[in-house]
Amino acid sequence: MRADVILVGGGLANSLIALRLRTLRPEVEPLLLERDEQLGGRHTWSFHADDLTAEQHAWVAPLVACSWPRHEVRFPAFSRRLERGYLSITSDRLRAVVGEALGARARPGIEVAGLSESEVVLRDGTRFRASAVIDGRGDPGRGPLDLGFQKFLGQVLVLEAAHGLDGPILMDATVPQADGFRFLYTLPFGDRRLLVEDTRYSDTPALAKEEARRGIEAYARTQGWHVRAVEGEEEGSLPIILSGDIEALWDASGPGVPRSGMRAALFHPTTGYSLPEAVRLADAIATSADLRSPALYALTRGRSREAWRRGRFFRLLNRMLYRAAEPERRYRVLEHFYRLPEPLVGRFYAGRLTWRDKIRVLSGRPPVPVGRAIVALLAPGMRARPDVSETGGRT
Ligand SMILES: Cc1cc2nc3c(=O)[nH]c(=O)nc-3n(C[C@H](O)[C@H](O)[C@H](O)COP(=O)(O)OP(=O)(O)OC[C@H]3O[C@@H](n4cnc5c(N)ncnc54)[C@H](O)[C@@H]3O)c2cc1C
Repeated sequence: MRADVILVGGGLANSLIALRLRTLRPEVEPLLLERDEQLGGRHTWSFHADDLTAEQHAWVAPLVACSWPRHEVRFPAFSRRLERGYLSITSDRLRAVVGEALGARARPGIEVAGLSESEVVLRDGTRFRASAVIDGRGDPGRGPLDLGFQKFLGQVLVLEAAHGLDGPILMDATVPQADGFRFLYTLPFGDRRLLVEDTRYSDTPALAKEEARRGIEAYARTQGWHVRAVEGEEEGSLPIILSGDIEALWDASGPGVPRSGMRAALFHPTTGYSLPEAVRLADAIATSADLRSPALYALTRGRSREAWRRGRFFRLLNRMLYRAAEPERRYRVLEHFYRLPEPLVGRFYAGRLTWRDKIRVLSGRPPVPVGRAIVALLAPGMRARPDVSETGGRT
């Protein structure tokens, strides 16, 4: 099959690129290769309405399975409703839309064994050539990054009676704290259907699944929800960047190969969420005048570097969260944060904090011991190699 652009990995980032290319550049032939038997894995990808522009909302709308005009957070000391929209895309919806747009150009069940900027080699030795190859094979692992983790197990619960929620609870940290900052995340998908995730901001990526399932069961009980059935599960362990060297991450493998999504470290440093960055990258690639690998390599590496630069303040906050706060008292950092003005909270998740916002975030009575906070702020490389960007080096 002739292809202009081969997208390796049929996850979120490459699926969005393929969709956007089909709409804006119908003359370009993409080929989307996915190792698993179906595209898009088993995910619910959520994002804040503020994360995207009106135009971006318009083109992702067919993928959105659910949206809410407001959400809330709950902490031991206070609860808060935020009148800001929240939306979710599901793997099922992504698969249906991408399948229809790409037809035979979306190829699940094909594992790529090797790739270069112009060629892809499959497990059986078959080769495909194209003027661009984009590596979207997901999380590249720790490499030169010092990481914490946001890990979670979620269950879709079907209830005996209506749950009574009118929007998501993004954090309910009134639960017992364990393995770092622990909270329950709840998305109401219908009157009697909920996605409930037991989440921890932890030092380690390993997920204690049975414990998380018991945590969800106990939470449902305390909320007065009687569970009729568990419809499905999803799980993840997302990287939370404390410090690192973005140039070394790019230099480590695949010279000259453009990357997308988690592979390009295009995710929010404090949440590990990548959807908004993936939408922006899809727009940037589909509107690029040159769709050959050298140009797309410069584009994707440049965006990754730029995102890293913008993420500097967030990495600093992450270090405060992970290094200055005792694991079981990490919730106090978030509790402190959620008392800030609503528009600032919106800009935080959208990764667009102003200087004034940053000062505001750091002001007030610190929720962590001052001495430890200073060490965390000033010594990014304490637990790992020095963070080149943080110490004023090349990035
Ligand atoms: C359960 C879960 C929930 C999440 N929820 C959110 C959320 O609510 N909001 C948000 O913004 N982010 C969320 N994230 C984080 C992030 O957005 C996702 O991890 C997202 O899927 C990353 O997109 P990606 O395209 O970079 O990687 P992936 O979606 O992981 O896609 C990579 C794909 O490459 C395939 N692949 C790997 N190796 C090969 C190979 N050799 N050959 C062919 N294919 C290969 C994989 O099978 C996979 O399908 C979530 C992550 C998880 C795991």
